Amino acid sequence: MGAQEYVVAADLGGTLTKIGYGHADGSLTGVQRRSTFLHDGGDALLSWLAEQLIDVVDARPADRCVGYGVVVPGIIEMGTGRVRAAPNVGWYDVPLRQRLTELTGLPGVVGHDVRSGGLAEWRLGSGVGVSNLLFLPLGTGIAGAMVVDGQLLDADGYAGEIGHLRVAAGADTPCACGQVGCLETVASAAGVVRTYRALSGLAAVATAQDVAAAARAGEPAALKAFDLATDALTEALTVYVTLLAPEVIVVGGGLSGAADLFLAPLTAAVQQRLAFQRMPRIVPAALGADAGLIGAGLAGWDAVRRSRGTAAAASSLATTAPRLGADGGGHG
Ligand SMILES: [Zn+2]
Repeated sequence: MGAQEYVVAADLGGTLTKIGYGHADGSLTGVQRRSTFLHDGGDALLSWLAEQLIDVVDARPADRCVGYGVVVPGIIEMGTGRVRAAPNVGWYDVPLRQRLTELTGLPGVVGHDVRSGGLAEWRLGSGVGVSNLLFLPLGTGIAGAMVVDGQLLDADGYAGEIGHLRVAAGADTPCACGQVGCLETVASAAGVVRTYRALSGLAAVATAQDVAAAARAGEPAALKAFDLATDALTEALTVYVTLLAPEVIVVGGGLSGAADLFLAPLTAAVQQRLAFQRMPRIVPAALGADAGLIGAGLAGWDAVRRSRGTAAAASSLATTAPRLGADGGGHG
């Protein structure tokens, strides 16, 4: 038995950062949760994150770290690993991959937390075997990971912001983005809580689980909050299905714990709105809250394999180059 190879996977959150060892088969071990260091600005956070990566690598001296996969909420360019904007953690225009590689001496990739979760659900979870998928975590906010014809879409980091489609059920509710009536104002876990508080006058209700419990007990305000969320999701998903024809929509995030309350009505309502469009399966996520972290490990390994593939291709090119040269090969 030689040293085991792994990538360090990290999911940087606005409150907690999850970190663990990602293995070549996609499995994850040694997952730890640490409070994200937000007290001293963006540069201090970057140094802190690099220290966390080094710390977990140092804890396994007998094995070999071959890279890192780090995911962040916000607008993240997958190709370059640059964070355009991550308001939750105070980063704007940070060349994160370049800086982390300088600080840790490791190669790696930087990605987006929701797209990373989508990658994990697509490879290992509820979306295995399809080429067209929407991963839709309904959490504090809503963003989507879009797989179209076997490609996870990035669009320089801007793809998938389905939570900011305006929907009728959103009325003129202010959204964190500065607009009003966005999908996430009524259909996120936080949105369901807000609707319920407004309808019931119970300001103390804190979580979507509380609202779900009230809905299961038949309380009208709670049922109405889920009805509004379902209406809003129906409207947004009808647009998505019409444009991108997913085979499966994987619903995750905090609100997926109440899937029994809204997935069946949502499926029926979307079906009713469609004409010729392909009706997707709408299913709960399989991987839970660690999907983003699992995806970070998968993306880290993808990069390792790409670099080894490229290295192999480059060395075979080097061996054949003289013959190509002698043949007068050269197409540009
Ligand atoms: Zn918005």
